[in-house]
Amino acid sequence: MTSAIDSLMSFIKSLGVDQLAVIAVEDIQFNEDFRKQCEQNSCGSYNKNWMCPPALGSIEELKEQALKFKQGLLFQTVYQLEDSFDYEGMQEGTENHTKILRKVLDNIKSTKILKEFLPLNVGPCTFCGKCTFLDGKECRFPDEAVSSVEAYGIDVMALEKSCGMSYNNGKNTISCISLILF
Ligand code: SF4
Repeated sequence: MTSAIDSLMSFIKSLGVDQLAVIAVEDIQFNEDFRKQCEQNSCGSYNKNWMCPPALGSIEELKEQALKFKQGLLFQTVYQLEDSFDYEGMQEGTENHTKILRKVLDNIKSTKILKEFLPLNVGPCTFCGKCTFLDGKECRFPDEAVSSVEAYGIDVMALEKSCGMSYNNGKNTISCISLILF
């Protein structure tokens, strides 16, 4: 398993991520406050996406799912913004980060390096242009649907701290993270 993870980590590094670490699932702190941010519609996707609350399930159910895994691969990308109001830059950074996550997931699936895994990203699932949740239809690509660390109530700052990763990467930057539990 170690050499498989090493080769996956090499692949992730080759995609240009800024920070990468293996974390222990027992180090994840779950906090309802992060989930409440979803419920307060802080990113505008509450009740609009299959991979967001409330469709995704309660924080207790999601925590139980996450705790079935032992480890996780946490990676971070950092993007420069023009200023702290650079919404376009933030969106572009998140989109670029998500493209990297998709490449990682394609690699995991094609190499079958991990038998079971749970990927978590930032924000809602954006695999389809428009989530079918909005039309009251079932998810079109359940094997591609990805939820977020926020929906699972994961304290990202504490997790990054636990593995020596920096959370804030300087003035006018956006830092995006993904976590793949395995
Ligand atoms: S795969 Fe498509 S339909 Fe399913 S959650 Fe993601 S965006 Fe929505």
